Amino acid sequence: MRATLLLCLAAPALLAQAPTPSIGQKYGRLLITNALVIDGMGNPLRGPLDLTIENGRIISIAQSRPSEFSGSAINSPPTNRAADRTIDARGMYLMPGIIDLHGHIQFERGGKALPRDYVYKLWLAHGITTVREPGSMEGIDTVVAHMKLSADNRINAPTIVPYATAGAPTPEAARALIKSLKLKGAAGLKVFINPPDVWEAIADEARLQGLPIATDMKIQHYNALDAARLGVRSIEHWYGIPDAAIGGRQHWPEDYNYDDELMRFRWAGDLWRQADSARLSAVIDTLIAHKVTWDPTFAIYDANRDLMRARNAPWMREYALPNMLEHFEADPARHGSYFFDWTTADEVRWKRNYRIWMRWVREFARRGGNVTVGSDAGFIWELYGFCTIRELEMQQEAGFTPLEVIQHATYNGARALGLTSTGVVRVGFDADLLLVDGSPLHNFKVLYGTGVDVAEGGRMVHRGGVKYTIKKGIVFDAEAIRADVREMVRKARDAGR
Ligand SMILES: [Zn+2]
Repeated sequence: MRATLLLCLAAPALLAQAPTPSIGQKYGRLLITNALVIDGMGNPLRGPLDLTIENGRIISIAQSRPSEFSGSAINSPPTNRAADRTIDARGMYLMPGIIDLHGHIQFERGGKALPRDYVYKLWLAHGITTVREPGSMEGIDTVVAHMKLSADNRINAPTIVPYATAGAPTPEAARALIKSLKLKGAAGLKVFINPPDVWEAIADEARLQGLPIATDMKIQHYNALDAARLGVRSIEHWYGIPDAAIGGRQHWPEDYNYDDELMRFRWAGDLWRQADSARLSAVIDTLIAHKVTWDPTFAIYDANRDLMRARNAPWMREYALPNMLEHFEADPARHGSYFFDWTTADEVRWKRNYRIWMRWVREFARRGGNVTVGSDAGFIWELYGFCTIRELEMQQEAGFTPLEVIQHATYNGARALGLTSTGVVRVGFDADLLLVDGSPLHNFKVLYGTGVDVAEGGRMVHRGGVKYTIKKGIVFDAEAIRADVREMVRKARDAGR
């Protein structure tokens, strides 16, 4: 009573800022029956299979209809104890939950606050069970606090792996910052532009503190070859890779100014063309030799090659809050909103840029490199969750098979983060899973929250969408979460916000 009263008296602003309590259901024993299973390691589809989950872990996987052909390692001894809940997954596909290696937690867009669980809910609505937060721009303390709330199933959110931005003007300041970030609970570092001596100090201190580095090299003195030598674990996007294969600096027009975002993104579209193939080949080999992961994030630049497509995506209507849309509209004062003179030539340039970039990502994987899935949504007309699924589509466009793309989004992501008990549907592994209404191997679009239209028995039927997102055995009704977000958006529109 007293506690309730205190809660009521607490500052309303503070309460409004807290994410809503979790609707995720925990069960002592959860049974999923009749699922068609994609394991996340690139192996062919199996099933129908029954999975038993206890204490957040998969404890058995068995054929739903036992046959003489047991097909090797799949069958584990059947368990007879009654389940607390059974999900009949007939007609559904089960795969590991998606690991988004580049998911920014954002509480503000377009100069206005976002509901604190808007981003989280859009992630869960798309089967994303783990997110690496690359930069913790909302503050490492908040992100670490939310990581803990999520781990305790107190908020509707995926597992959060917080990487904090580590940049400083001097080597001494960088070392001090990294020590403090470690104490605050950072799981890794995100490094942008730094002078060479600061980079050396960051890499050394990160090693001492046991913090892996992800980098968005952008344009600076150092490039991807330096990053590899310094022990960086992942290259985000692609900057630094073609830069290392140009032999000097990129050729820009004489009025190029890096701080002019229109200029920056326009001429980034010419970078891959300027790189030398033989040099690129050697750069790729060096990255692979140093076990650097490449997280290409194709989807976040999709608008650069077709602005009209990105701006009119069907999900904007029901899932984009008004201030999201405001944020995306052209405005030189905002990061990623540079479409105020985006020309036909820019789009053509970017289409060519993609063709070369995609070819090299595929070559990187062919030679043994670890490719992952990351979204970077919240900028450039890309909405959380939807952008991650778009990334799967674009990796298929790059020449990967759907099974390979799913491996990038699951097993490879876990490997990049050093997580050894997730990203695979396997006995003994965490029950980080998604169940979707339709085959993602046939069509990645079934994973979009907006679903797909298909013909069944001569009639059009609306299908698709993730049905359940399961995080460490906690079941989230993805459809209910999507209904929640639509309601959030409807209310905001009605209120004219
Ligand atoms: Zn980013």
